[in-house]
Amino acid sequence: MDDETTGTSRRRALWLFGVVAGLALAADEVRTPNGYRTAEAEIVPASPAVNPAPTPRARLRPPSWTPGRLVAAEEPVRELTQLSPPPPAKTIALTIDDGPHPVWTPKMLDLLAEHDVRATFFIIGEQVREQRELTRRIADAGHQICNHTMHHPLSLAGMSTKEVREEVVEAHDRIADATGVLPGFFRAPGGNWSDRVMDVIAEYGMLPIDWSIDPRDWARPGTGRVRSRLLEAGDGDILLCHDGGGDRAQTIKALRKAVPELKKRGLTFATL
Ligand SMILES: [Zn+2]
Repeated sequence: MDDETTGTSRRRALWLFGVVAGLALAADEVRTPNGYRTAEAEIVPASPAVNPAPTPRARLRPPSWTPGRLVAAEEPVRELTQLSPPPPAKTIALTIDDGPHPVWTPKMLDLLAEHDVRATFFIIGEQVREQRELTRRIADAGHQICNHTMHHPLSLAGMSTKEVREEVVEAHDRIADATGVLPGFFRAPGGNWSDRVMDVIAEYGMLPIDWSIDPRDWARPGTGRVRSRLLEAGDGDILLCHDGGGDRAQTIKALRKAVPELKKRGLTFATL
């Protein structure tokens, strides 16, 4: 009797979990454009086996602005105004690529926390294996987790559909497994896009993201130059910085000055 009651309760609990999970997925589908909705639904069933609890997503603070769908689906998004609905005036997005990195990502997270800024991290899948806890820390801090391929091939645009798919899907699975987050946005390494890349990421329900402000921090041009380029940001700009791929001391120093300055001008940092 007791066992049966317990069993019924457990089944009911599982059913309720299913309903809640279903609602969460339905909410995701609403946020994706029509053309991507089916693909998103297809990729989702594979994830519960890897990570059955979607709770990490629930830990994120609610964003002040959430784009509903892409207007210009034919090409990568370079400014927030290409998203729909467009963001409120004076909104910018800080995107951070090529991590997680054991030295620079924690410094970046501390800096962002200090200034209460939510950023968008384009993660390299193969680095998640060794930086699993750090990857989770990024998500738990309320930042957005996105897909930046498995191995960061700068030749992605020249790869076959099969090779592109492997780069995209392996990174997706690695990120989803570590964080419970299903990335909805993708950035090609070096911004090297091709029709094949666009087709594959559409197939998996992701939107292509580029940038409008590039301080070329990866080339270490000097803290002052990185900072002054970042300070050119205005309405709708997508800023590109890095927390991986080399010594990012200049990036951190430049952001330490630029972020409070941009906030002082009334600009609000948002995720995508
Ligand atoms: Zn990159």
